[in-house]
Amino acid sequence: MTFQIAERWFERKRIDDDITLIWEPHVDPLARCNIWHVRGSETDLLVDTGMGVTELKPAIQDLFGHGVVAFATHTHFDHVGSLHEFEHRIVGKHEAAIMEEADNRFSLYREDTDPELAKCIEDSGYQISECLIDALPHAGYDPRAYKVEPAKPTRVVDDGDEVSIGNRHFEVLHLPGHSPGSFGLWEADTGTLFSGDAAYDGPLLDMLPESDINDYCKTMERLMELPVSIVHAGHDPSFGRERLIEMCRDYLEKRAAA
Ligand SMILES: [Zn+2]
Repeated sequence: MTFQIAERWFERKRIDDDITLIWEPHVDPLARCNIWHVRGSETDLLVDTGMGVTELKPAIQDLFGHGVVAFATHTHFDHVGSLHEFEHRIVGKHEAAIMEEADNRFSLYREDTDPELAKCIEDSGYQISECLIDALPHAGYDPRAYKVEPAKPTRVVDDGDEVSIGNRHFEVLHLPGHSPGSFGLWEADTGTLFSGDAAYDGPLLDMLPESDINDYCKTMERLMELPVSIVHAGHDPSFGRERLIEMCRDYLEKRAAA
């Protein structure tokens, strides 16, 4: 496989006065995570940090009004690759230990992926391309050397905890199913939910080795009750309450029928 050098690794889009979406266009859609920047009056918040193929912080530093705290919705490689670059790192308690370990489990190449895992992802409705990136971030980058750097959490949270950035306050919601330590951030004042991979507008992954379908069903029941106005998810475009409820119902029906 031959690669071009990417002109820019990160793209961004301003969502409103305070929220910016950042993503990696040269990462395969399967692993292209939404990175959310939220401006706060005392500190900024970053929800997830992408693949870590190349440094995120210098690429988005101009967005930060002051300090920034990085929050990991869960510890899958496409969400925590650049977590180690940030001084303040919040991780949910069920997967906090995973972030402390040097983690070489992930490869960008399909041929290195466990065949059972690959099948499970494909059965869920995805295609896995030969390599998860289609360009290099800079000359000399070796896609074979990709790994997730360890990033010991500086704060470990659980359901009901609060993440405050001054003028904005988020409740930590434990939303297990996709992974045991999947967490969302819920801002009741604005009806904004950062949902990670618990709910996104694409085929949901609940058959990974670390997934739990019973937990996922309970998470969907919980999400249906939440008076959301907007869901900013871990992948794919944002959506409103109607779509969230439809998604939860579809999931529960599918799993009840299985
Ligand atoms: Zn995930």
